[in-house]
Amino acid sequence: MAAPTRDTPGKGRARQKRGEGQWALGYREPLNPNERAKKDDHPLNARARIENIYSRQGFDSIDPGDLRGRFRWFGLYTQRRPGIDGGRTGALEPEELDDRYLMMRVRTDGGGLTTAQLRLLGELSQEHARDTADITDRQNIQYHWIRIEDVPTIWSRLEAAGLTTLEACGDSPRGMLGSPVAGIAADEVLDASEALAEIRRRYIGDPKYANLPRKFKTAISGLPDVVHEVNDVSFVGVVHPEHGPGLDLWVGGGLSTNPMLAQRLGAWIPLAEVPDVWEGVVSIFRDYGYRRLRSRARLKFLVKDWGAAKFREVLETEYLKRKLIDGPAPADPPAPIDHVGVHRQKDGRFYVGAAPVAGRVSGSTLVAVADAAERAGSGRVALTPLQKLIVLDVPAEKVDRLKADLAEQGLQADPSPWRRSVMACTGLEFCKLAIVETKARARQLVADLEKSLADVNARLEVPITVHLNGCPNSCARVQTADIGLKGQIVTDADGRQVEGFQVHLGGGLGLDAGFGRKLRGHKVIADELTGYVERLARAYLAGREPGERFAQW
Ligand code: SF4
Repeated sequence: MAAPTRDTPGKGRARQKRGEGQWALGYREPLNPNERAKKDDHPLNARARIENIYSRQGFDSIDPGDLRGRFRWFGLYTQRRPGIDGGRTGALEPEELDDRYLMMRVRTDGGGLTTAQLRLLGELSQEHARDTADITDRQNIQYHWIRIEDVPTIWSRLEAAGLTTLEACGDSPRGMLGSPVAGIAADEVLDASEALAEIRRRYIGDPKYANLPRKFKTAISGLPDVVHEVNDVSFVGVVHPEHGPGLDLWVGGGLSTNPMLAQRLGAWIPLAEVPDVWEGVVSIFRDYGYRRLRSRARLKFLVKDWGAAKFREVLETEYLKRKLIDGPAPADPPAPIDHVGVHRQKDGRFYVGAAPVAGRVSGSTLVAVADAAERAGSGRVALTPLQKLIVLDVPAEKVDRLKADLAEQGLQADPSPWRRSVMACTGLEFCKLAIVETKARARQLVADLEKSLADVNARLEVPITVHLNGCPNSCARVQTADIGLKGQIVTDADGRQVEGFQVHLGGGLGLDAGFGRKLRGHKVIADELTGYVERLARAYLAGREPGERFAQW
């Protein structure tokens, strides 16, 4: 192992741990198998093999290092082999869990799509993905049942329409969150979509930014609608008293194990400078991020060790070569804005946000929504970070017909509080890490609570958020829900090992930003989930003070 060759910036104020595998300190020799694989062959090189070898010779020709590693840089994972229960998830070798089909994520930075793109996404699902499609909480569309033979065809059709799976996963800048209503929302500080587009043009697919210590999540919005507190880097709209509208810079958010909320650097960034500052932050992560242990490789660990002041100093002195302007904090909303319902745009038209259950739609649904949107005079839709779908630019006289058409597709613009607030990750159906089922359980939970709480649902002015994860990772942001449910095997009253959840209570974002309390032994058996949530909701409604939100209760 090479010894560190130079001091860390600011040495003396924050002692840097030795041996974290930071490139900037001279640790260029890979210190774990993931780093070795990336050094041996840059992940972006796998595309040529997919197009020229694997898609022609079939699944068995795929190099395992590509299949379980470099494929992710193209939004591809193997999906879970059907029939393996959650109790065996951790006990089997990766190849025993692998199905011969792939999961594919299509990135839609900022969530915006034309109706032609949405229709294409639906048709590709019908033709190649057994009609599967989920809206993820990163504004991606996620397919299942993809055959390696079909990948080049899917790519060429996506790319002809301006869409891509490039860096949708992997140790790279993944699909970036942006306001789904940028440019039309009446209350936005500014329209940040051009910054997102410029970052995508300049940096996505550039090998210089595609070998990071781990994944890198970005959120940029003129509105508090992109869960900015839990991204690696976020730019949030704020008005500076002297300089006017711009963006407030946050770094180091992330959930999963060791969850941390992002920290403000206290810097106001003009819109035109966002791509440069983003490049500075991602470069710090590339150069100073911890590459020795995968479990410490997210940016949040570096931010925690350095602190916000040192991070800003390194950004200014080593990367930007100039000082940033101090700026104010944006106002916190009660919770991230979900855009569900009918809202007037700046131009007098309307956007209509509708809720599927936990992001589950289908290819056929996407095609039908594209048709319905066009009938309503719209040419644009958007996916949201809360697994919702919005039709933009609808004239007033077409709103009711559109709402009815969407409802026919299972997309409700006036949803119950439970349909609106339940989120779920992929879970046991397709995810190799999963221990419990999530999507079907979310659907059942919503249906049950709509009935069992019918007498009180109207009193839930602010819905109680319920997030279901299939394992200890936090793809559905379990720690930031009012009721966070982390899948695990639990013991029931008869001593049997069954699917269940560790409960986290009282987490939130916005005004309630913080992680839910994980009480020891606070677990619920999956079959008893509805009754558990119902009891909590009734107790909250009976015991709350006027205006008190669940997280405060
Ligand atoms: Fe898979 Fe776990 Fe993420 Fe759910 S939280 S999608 S089960 S890794």
